Amino acid sequence: APEKQTLGFQAEVKQLLQLMIHSLYSNKEIFLRELISNASDAADKLRFEAINNDALYGNDHELKIKVAFDKAARTITISDNGIGMSRDEAISHLGTIAKSGTKEFFGKLSGDQQKDAALIGQFGVGFYSGFIVADKITVESRRAGLPAAEGVRWESGGEGDYSVEQIEKTGRGTDIILHLREGEDELLSSWKLKSIIRKYSDHISLPIVMQKEEWDEEKKETVLKDELETINQASALWARNKSDITPEQYDEFYKHVSHDFQPPLTHTHNRVEGRSEYTQLLYIPAKAPFDLWDRNKRGGLKLYVKRVFIMDDAEQLMPTYLRFVKGVIDSADLPLNVSREILQESRDVKVIREGSTKRVIGMLEELANADEQEKKDKYATFWTEFGQVLKEGVGEDMANKDRLAKLLRFASTANDSDEQNVSLEQYIARMKEGQDKIYYVTADNYVAAKNSPHLEIFRKKGVEVLLLTDRVDEWMLSFLTEFEGKELVSVAKGGLDLGQLEDEAEKKEHEETETAYQDLVAKMKEALADKAKDVRVTFRLTDSPACLVADEHELSGNLLRMLKAAGQ
Ligand code: ADP
Ligand code: MG
Repeated sequence: APEKQTLGFQAEVKQLLQLMIHSLYSNKEIFLRELISNASDAADKLRFEAINNDALYGNDHELKIKVAFDKAARTITISDNGIGMSRDEAISHLGTIAKSGTKEFFGKLSGDQQKDAALIGQFGVGFYSGFIVADKITVESRRAGLPAAEGVRWESGGEGDYSVEQIEKTGRGTDIILHLREGEDELLSSWKLKSIIRKYSDHISLPIVMQKEEWDEEKKETVLKDELETINQASALWARNKSDITPEQYDEFYKHVSHDFQPPLTHTHNRVEGRSEYTQLLYIPAKAPFDLWDRNKRGGLKLYVKRVFIMDDAEQLMPTYLRFVKGVIDSADLPLNVSREILQESRDVKVIREGSTKRVIGMLEELANADEQEKKDKYATFWTEFGQVLKEGVGEDMANKDRLAKLLRFASTANDSDEQNVSLEQYIARMKEGQDKIYYVTADNYVAAKNSPHLEIFRKKGVEVLLLTDRVDEWMLSFLTEFEGKELVSVAKGGLDLGQLEDEAEKKEHEETETAYQDLVAKMKEALADKAKDVRVTFRLTDSPACLVADEHELSGNLLRMLKAAGQ
């Protein structure tokens, strides 16, 4: 329908808008990063569709992103000549949230703004972040391939609803026009916008251009020229040399590919040559996404072929148990028209998957085995967020099972908390004399595991037991029956032979009693100085209070009689 229509936002969009505007204000500059990120995605999508349909380019082959501002109108406009949106796409992409698990996510929000703000980061803010600085956003778009008359104008004040109408739009792609809120005028400056772009969007591989600004001597002010200048480096970040990339650029690129809000834990960046030639830039997030357990969630790896974007969520490039990994694989060998079906069969993809899996495991080992506290803490964070997923690998990835087993962390009777921080190697290093097995107990939760009656004899003998309470544990244990030659055994299994193990608990109790009585013993020694050679606390007796013993070296009944005579 060509006439203007007013439609309501999906309930979750309204919630997101409310929450975001208030909780992200201190971080408001990120709106530009998000909108440029979308423009870059739109260019990627056009390039991909154009592989089989060059006509989509029309006479406009040079993909770019333009950022402009208008002081008088108080607007900032982000324009791209990417894939664009049809009317229906504008309605579904800008009026609803397409992510699966959205309802559940919003159900979890507490109403506490600070807590919810952290969650929003996990969810990803995207297009709506424009409303942090704008009280009205106008989107004018035309999808590649549609005629100029089939453009769409989408407009909203970011409250309950938005309007859509058909417009004439000459160029393909999308203009996002932000009508700034009162008090945001500092954004209406070349200098300010350029510095935000360089900070957050330098990694974008397309040119981001702005009109040149020059000092006008007559007007005594800066004026905008028609000439354009490119603000960013405009080359694919992963194709640059590692030494030319700053940590901040790596972090911002991560936020772009992952739609995450906070920096990653760590990354690995390599150019691989050999059986297959490809570049990998892989990240481990600091926080599990809200939909980690959702089987339909979009995956983390973008596939490029010779810098051309091919697809998001190329799940063939990474085993399922590493589905939390984000980043880019750029292959030099795959054909541009590769499909998901071809990926499934491809030998190149198999090589890439194996190589990437090893890299990710290596990246985790580096954190897990590090001496620096910072890296150790990172591994602890990783384990809390993704440990349960990594456990799936023990059953799924036979080739890397041993390396994965070393990365496992468990709660244990050796600790006083439910923190999972004991490795199997640590356990083995602490094993008792005569112990040749790794003992564990499984239960629904930590408290139940810790209080299992099966543990009593192990406590008494001072034998450590791992406390396993994750749902995946029983399944994992069916694959992990031994580690470095030591059998993993449930303490609940019958017929455990613990005879050889020293009774540690008793030993400890004895030491404590000795300490408690040492003053008394000293006084008795003094009192009996000429009658007894020594006075000791004993544990031989169960009913009698005291007895006399012969010295180990003095087999003497004399002493015995002498003491008896003294009334003992
Ligand atoms: P995300 O980028 O994580 O998908 P956003 O909220 O940033 O989420 O954007 C929502 C959707 O709106 C995008 O997935 C895309 O389909 C559409 N969109 C946003 N900006 C553009 C654009 N400049 N060109 C084409 N489509 C866009
Ligand atoms: Mg986005």
